Amino acid sequence: MSATVMDGTALAAKVKEQVRAQVETMERKPGLAVILVGDNPASRVYVNGKKRDCAQCGIYSEEYALPEETSQEQLLGLIDELNRREDIDGILCQLPLPKHLDEEAALLAIRPDKDVDCFHPYNVGRLMIGAPGFRPCTPAGVMRMLEEYHIDPAGKHCVIVGRSNIVGKPQAMLMLQKNATVTICHTKTKDLKAECLRSDILVAAAGRTGLITADMVPEGAVVIDVAMNRNAAGKLCGDVDFAPAAEKASFITPVPGGVGPMTRAMLMENTLLASRNHGKA
Ligand code: NAP
Repeated sequence: MSATVMDGTALAAKVKEQVRAQVETMERKPGLAVILVGDNPASRVYVNGKKRDCAQCGIYSEEYALPEETSQEQLLGLIDELNRREDIDGILCQLPLPKHLDEEAALLAIRPDKDVDCFHPYNVGRLMIGAPGFRPCTPAGVMRMLEEYHIDPAGKHCVIVGRSNIVGKPQAMLMLQKNATVTICHTKTKDLKAECLRSDILVAAAGRTGLITADMVPEGAVVIDVAMNRNAAGKLCGDVDFAPAAEKASFITPVPGGVGPMTRAMLMENTLLASRNHGKA
């Protein structure tokens, strides 16, 4: 079998166009504030991308680029100020923060109704019980891709490699809500290959280049590669050995051009949702 390559770039453009069309009709535009502390080059690239997405969607955005030596009080002070502003519907604090700052405290300080990343325990709890609200951007982007390609997780065995709070765990919840049977793997999993070979949908989110080789991919499986790693040559790549895996899979996401753009598109949807919840129309 030779897999259909799932085009995250094209789908993300479609989702952003849908957001733009809705924003265009709104009198009061959604607003997103992005906080970046320090000079992590990867974070800078992500923040620039988010600003571009906002501009494309007609969403007002503000960037706060704070120096590396910013104190916890200064960071919390800024979040407090943004929490109070009516024109700002979403607040995003780009991670990782410099080591001396308390990430958990910063994320907890963001008002849950402005938590467009869906990292606050209130929103994580709502996700867990299946209540409406924000969904974390990366796993939500994966679900949207499956929908676009008419892949229904119901009754399928979904194996997720990775159990982080931002990808693996929420991905498992979203798959469960769509009636998949879910297995979550991690570094203590005894036989990763055997688990992967039981999958109908395989989600790789370990952040380990080359971890998922073709012999771990069942014939006809749907393979979603969430990872964004750099290989020895410095090139962006995923966890999956793409070309040989694509020979066995039915569908597969590329890196780049798969889940990454979808994550950014889902942030735009969450910002729109936040603004609607704030009564903007
Ligand atoms: P993370 O917090 O480092 O979590 C990685 C998870 O993978 C952990 O649960 C870890 O297990 C597991 N793992 C690592 N090596 C493994 C192995 N050899 N066998 C089995 N499990 C293994 O990473 P993350 O933040 O979830 O991100 C994962 C990847 O997705 C990274 O490449 C990241 O860059 C990418 N990412 C992409 C997007 C996007 O927009 N496309 C968004 C977020 C993240 P333990 O828990 O046992 O340590």
